[in-house]
Amino acid sequence: MLIDYHIHLKGRYQREFLDKYIENGVNKGIKEFCITEHVHRFKETIDIPNRIIKKFGDNENTNFMKEWWTERCTKTIDEYVNFIQGVKDEGYPVKLGCEMDFLDEPILKSIVKDYPWDFIIGSVHWIQGWGFDHLDREWTWQSRDIDLVYKKYFNLIKEAAKSGMFDVIGHFDVIKVFGYYPSGEWSSLVEETLEEIIQNKIGIEVNTAGWRKPIGEIYPGEKILKQCKKYGIHITLGSDAHKVEEVGYGFDRALMLLDKIGYRFLTIYDKRKDYQIPIEDKANGNI
Ligand SMILES: [Zn+2]
Ligand SMILES: [Zn+2]
Repeated sequence: MLIDYHIHLKGRYQREFLDKYIENGVNKGIKEFCITEHVHRFKETIDIPNRIIKKFGDNENTNFMKEWWTERCTKTIDEYVNFIQGVKDEGYPVKLGCEMDFLDEPILKSIVKDYPWDFIIGSVHWIQGWGFDHLDREWTWQSRDIDLVYKKYFNLIKEAAKSGMFDVIGHFDVIKVFGYYPSGEWSSLVEETLEEIIQNKIGIEVNTAGWRKPIGEIYPGEKILKQCKKYGIHITLGSDAHKVEEVGYGFDRALMLLDKIGYRFLTIYDKRKDYQIPIEDKANGNI
């Protein structure tokens, strides 16, 4: 069964809008959709950038974070949850998800606890208030110590895995987005991080958005995915769609890769409980 477990509505909680996403996905053979709105869409998180500025200082990066975040957090969690629950009750093949930044913020822990989520992705998009993956801000990478950037990034992912807040880690190696790599080996960083993921019994997502980004590579890359398979780490599949046409983006190619690596199952979630489903439904001859 084919699923798309990483979709953003960008605050547009209207049935007509969701219908377009679903229609496009169904045409591509997708049977279940998990909407994973970014936590920065929610008014309840408005104070986070102020707290980050307090923690890491008032600088160009943290100020950008504040401006960017404040512009986007215009909806309440209830608006979102009620919308998704409503269409779910009507039989839409959707799940209630959230893509949450891993920031050491008490409000995020209560959001995890206080709503009836089916699925929560834990992602790192900010390192000490630096948003490293904004496509129009590649210049913020200049004169950075890339070895240190990777170390800090994977340390945060390890902490995220340990936090118990998440079902999967989102776009595991998104730090490669612009194609900057450490000077030496960084496989031990990956190994240690996968170790935490295994210890904490969570999964990772296979995220096709990397194929739309400067790096032009899936998250995680093939080598890491092979390690995940070797360690028996469970996976979801997501397009990280921000637009209707991005639902199911690159899935044919992703399925070929998963087949080559030997992944035969995807994971789906209901009220944060995981279930393995075969990618290929041999009985019906379809995916
Ligand atoms: Zn993300
Ligand atoms: Zn996303």
